[in-house]
Amino acid sequence: MGTPGSGADWLARYGSSLLGVFGAPQRVLVRGSGCTVEDADGNTYLDLLGGIAVNTLGHAHPFVTSVVSAQLATLGHVSNFFTSPTQIVLAEKLLALAGAPDGSRVFFTNSGTEANEAAFKLARRNGSPTRTRILALDGAFHGRSMGALALTAKPAYREPFQPLPGGVEHLPFGDPQALLNAVDDTVAAVFLEPIQGEAGVRPLPQGYLRRAREATAEHGALLILDEVQTGIGRTGTWFAHQAEGVVPDAMTLAKGLGGGFPIGALVTYGPASGLLTAGQHGTTFGGNPVAGAAGLATLAVLEETGALDNAGILGEHLRAGLAAVPGVVETRGAGLLIGFDLDGGYAPAAVRAALDAGFIINSTSERTLRLAPPLILTRPQADSFLEALPGILTTAQGAAS
Ligand SMILES: *Cc1c(COP(=O)(O)O)cnc(C)c1O
Repeated sequence: MGTPGSGADWLARYGSSLLGVFGAPQRVLVRGSGCTVEDADGNTYLDLLGGIAVNTLGHAHPFVTSVVSAQLATLGHVSNFFTSPTQIVLAEKLLALAGAPDGSRVFFTNSGTEANEAAFKLARRNGSPTRTRILALDGAFHGRSMGALALTAKPAYREPFQPLPGGVEHLPFGDPQALLNAVDDTVAAVFLEPIQGEAGVRPLPQGYLRRAREATAEHGALLILDEVQTGIGRTGTWFAHQAEGVVPDAMTLAKGLGGGFPIGALVTYGPASGLLTAGQHGTTFGGNPVAGAAGLATLAVLEETGALDNAGILGEHLRAGLAAVPGVVETRGAGLLIGFDLDGGYAPAAVRAALDAGFIINSTSERTLRLAPPLILTRPQADSFLEALPGILTTAQGAAS
């Protein structure tokens, strides 16, 4: 049980009050500052996961905290019978960063899965009822609500909840010919992640997005990019697809957008913005004044501090350093979304050994580890992990064997 207020005490209470859909939490975290968090037992950790690519500015960023607090103290919620300046300015800002053409629009949500639900409905409205097919990829993760789950590939996530919304087909990952064969005039939309995060940080092969753009444009299908994990500077550009120079018909965002505050968005480009009309979709909380303020504050700090450049430079530094560590056999990713494979199935043990050594990292499979730290991570912080990793992997190998 542990003494009241200790990590063990909280975890026992967690186990008898929270629904058991997650594994047992690894630690009970009580406060954070910058790239560091502290647990209920007073241990501190360098956070190299950032709440899964959410805490772009680390924890308790002073500017985000003051802007969000001030907005909540001024006007917190209004419903969508009304609007408020923060959601309008944030929509304008996102369209500008996306380089979206005239006629483009934004719909705000509270999460990534809700952004993909909105995108799913957008897809259904494209050429319905003759365009019945929606294409996604093996390994795809688009969220846990029913529409997003239909787009998600993993059988263990899908099968307990069938029947799911129909019409979705999963194609082999990264195979352009399979995509070209599948796209015809019966396809409403193609959903792609520029880099599959949950699948272990797997980037689409060079040129794949461009060919997907050409094929969808030729056949009147929408190209919908899920940038929930890759967007908002994570990969060194505002949105990962910008490195490939393609313009999608829609893009979904969430994780990094609010700097820790829940907010998501569907961005529709040009003509796709006319597919959903008044009354066809909605949300009570989405785009409320506080969420808008959090998004604006986060984007402003990212812009002013050169965090995107930092993500690009530090990401390369980290990948090069990781590649030199014994036991690491492959590194992938862009900017500060990094996956690396081990030479054996000891990634979950490495997560535990890293925690004991004061680092928060994540395993996406038995052999693959993922880093998605705050974009304000410093080089000394990155180096402290590179220096500790050989020992962490040795401990993990011993524990797993
Ligand atoms: C996390 C994630 C989602 C789901 O977002 P939630 O906020 O957890 O609903 C969807 N797509 C991708 C690519 C993600 O990484």
